[in-house]
Amino acid sequence: AKETKEDEDTNANYDIGLQEPEKGVVTRFPPEPSGYLHIGHAKAALLNDYFAHKKYKGTLLLRFDDTNPLKEKQEFQDAIVEDLRLMGITPDKVSHTSDYFQELYDLCVQMLQEGTAYADDTPQEKMREQRMDGIASYRRDAPPEDNLARFEEMNKGTPEGTRWFVRAKISVDDTNKALRDPVIYRCSPDQPHHRTGSTWKVYPTYDFCCPLVDAIEGVTHALRTTEYRDRDAQYQWMLKALRLRNVYNWDFARLNFVRTLLSKRKLTKLVDTGRVWGWDDPRMPTVRGVRRRGCTIPALQEFILKQGPSKNIVNLQWDTFWATNKKYIDPVAARYTAVAKDAMVRCSVRGEGLKNADGSPWSEQKDKHAKYTDLGKKTVVFGAEILVDQVDAASFAQDEEITLMNWGNAFVRGITKSGDTVECLDLELNLAGDFKKTKKKITWLAAKQGLVLVELVDFDFLITKDKLDDNDVLEDCLTPQTEFRTACVADENVAALRVDDIIQFDRKGYFRCDRAADVDNGVASVFFQIPTGKK
Ligand code: ATP
Ligand code: MG
Ligand code: MG
Repeated sequence: AKETKEDEDTNANYDIGLQEPEKGVVTRFPPEPSGYLHIGHAKAALLNDYFAHKKYKGTLLLRFDDTNPLKEKQEFQDAIVEDLRLMGITPDKVSHTSDYFQELYDLCVQMLQEGTAYADDTPQEKMREQRMDGIASYRRDAPPEDNLARFEEMNKGTPEGTRWFVRAKISVDDTNKALRDPVIYRCSPDQPHHRTGSTWKVYPTYDFCCPLVDAIEGVTHALRTTEYRDRDAQYQWMLKALRLRNVYNWDFARLNFVRTLLSKRKLTKLVDTGRVWGWDDPRMPTVRGVRRRGCTIPALQEFILKQGPSKNIVNLQWDTFWATNKKYIDPVAARYTAVAKDAMVRCSVRGEGLKNADGSPWSEQKDKHAKYTDLGKKTVVFGAEILVDQVDAASFAQDEEITLMNWGNAFVRGITKSGDTVECLDLELNLAGDFKKTKKKITWLAAKQGLVLVELVDFDFLITKDKLDDNDVLEDCLTPQTEFRTACVADENVAALRVDDIIQFDRKGYFRCDRAADVDNGVASVFFQIPTGKK
């Protein structure tokens, strides 16, 4: 089918040729409540929302695909609802696959009666081999009475029942392996389901539920990632076998990022083994994780919708993602100053421009952002004693003219060193000097009471490889150190910042406040570095 991108921005109008949209568009997002949403899920959710609510005047269903009681929890379900809300997605209806367990059970009985399904007790390993080799199960031609009796046994959850599966009778050896008699029901009596408790001992598989519940709920277009393409024929077979209404399949590319795991199973492992602080860890590719790292929701929406419904599977770069985000944060990020605490150099400042004859500090109100002045003012403190970063101090040459940001130029008149380390500097103000002529614009803080302790935290990718192969062992591909902390002091304005504020420390980059300062108790505030896509 044809695919054209008509527009480059978020309001892009993708002509993906959904079949017969004039007959109505009902899409669905069907997450399994077995983890938090990652940005791959966000793509599926945003695309379904786009077609249902933006491109067409349709309906979006949110369906919790809760057919595996071993992995699912209410906590995950609540988190999914909340994350969709954060992304601006409001489903028109919320349901659960488990709401349809009775209907699905009845449809399975119907298939057993009609001979389009059979019960099988071939051990799982052998069943897998036979499917690979195109060999029929010895139970394939059992009569409906036997099949129904075995399904009844499964339904009771007896030890005999647990040995059995129900399989759709499609094909033994079709070249499309998805059509080789897939399992549609299994018996799992011991684990209570998080919603239906111990009512059911048998659970339908994804392959069975997905087409049937789509048809029952009135879905018109089932959007799925391209790996499911082989299963489209199976999906359509189920609808026909049960004479259910038609649903169109439509596929789009899975979202992948370099050095990033987008699999709930692997992400769960990182959480469960304490490799990360939790699902909202800023290193996690979850909706919560990227937000905590400083990604804004409009940036997430723009980035994902720009990928559009394209079918090319590519390993995306985070640089483009964070560059999109930078456009959104730059105009709202007020500027502040921080200097590394363990490497600050004291400078004495003299010359014309000091307001107080005794060198004592004074303050002035300056814009928080030179360009976006509506961000308001901040207090900048000046004085005859200031602090600069060691790396800056170590780069100065005798009599070099530098610029003190937010103040003016100064000459470096004296450099006192101990080995390679600068101990102190003597600066002579030259406020009439032209800041366009200096090479170094230096951040500095007046040395005085009231500086705020801050911790700046930067992160690395959790995994060492661009892409994990199937035979890679996760544990062997984990980056040993992924968290880097620098203790700093910052200007007094930083004491007023709150969690989630996004700011810039001049020359250090963009940061999101993850913990506010508690100045009275000497507790440092914590800021996470927000990548900008530039190395
Ligand atoms: P995971 O392996 O991460 O658990 P999943 O498909 O098993 O993925 P579901 O909760 O069933 O997890 O997914 C909900 C929806 O999100 C499905 O429609 C699925 O196709 C889609 N989805 C999952 N991962 C991605 C991805 N990386 N890119 C795009 N869509 C995705
Ligand atoms: Mg799934
Ligand atoms: Mg999966």
